[in-house]
Amino acid sequence: MTITLALSKGRIFSETLPLLKTANIEVLEDPETSRKLIIPTSNPDLRIIMVRATDVPTYVRYGAADIGIAGKDVLIEYGLDGLYTPIDLEIAKCIIAVAAPNNFDYAKRIEQGRITVATKYVKTAQEHFTHKGVHADIIKLYGSMELAPLVGLADVIVDLVSTGNTLKANNLKMIEKICEISSKLIVNKASYKTKLKDIQSIINIFQKAK
Ligand code: AMP
Repeated sequence: MTITLALSKGRIFSETLPLLKTANIEVLEDPETSRKLIIPTSNPDLRIIMVRATDVPTYVRYGAADIGIAGKDVLIEYGLDGLYTPIDLEIAKCIIAVAAPNNFDYAKRIEQGRITVATKYVKTAQEHFTHKGVHADIIKLYGSMELAPLVGLADVIVDLVSTGNTLKANNLKMIEKICEISSKLIVNKASYKTKLKDIQSIINIFQKAK
């Protein structure tokens, strides 16, 4: 039975390759140069589909992919309905954090009790500031969050930080860590029952490799 694995380009894809290699599974096209969205592997029973990171849980939830790899940042926003998350693969690690221009007086703004936040991570940001007892006006963005406080769209951003180089290059600083992020294997609950043996063998590969 063929198993379909949903991945996204970038760190998740590149850090998944070595895990598959431990079971001698080679990915037969490079999605960074190929325009193909369905990519075969050297295992005829495993194929990969390339989708946007935020769409991985959707493909898996509806069973268009049996399994997928998604960041905890995406899973927090999306929810885990219909998904089983057997393994934290500990790849594509980073943190989700509040960041602001170097000269921004965060403590003062928190004391005043209201802040404007630009982010792709609406739920995470809302929960974070609610927890602090601060009213957050959230502005949803889809990318280049770092720009927002530089041009007056928001006071702060909530975004992923890895090396911190992007913040530094834009005269921003990390103010508060919200949580640590890594990527998890997600499995369609129905597929897990109907393709138990095949999915369990893929889970075992990832379990052993991590
Ligand atoms: P850095 O400059 O290394 O701190 O990386 C920050 C930029 O990379 C931001 O634009 C983030 O949205 C993005 N980023 C960092 N880590 C990840 C990750 N694990 N997955 C996806 N995007 C990331």
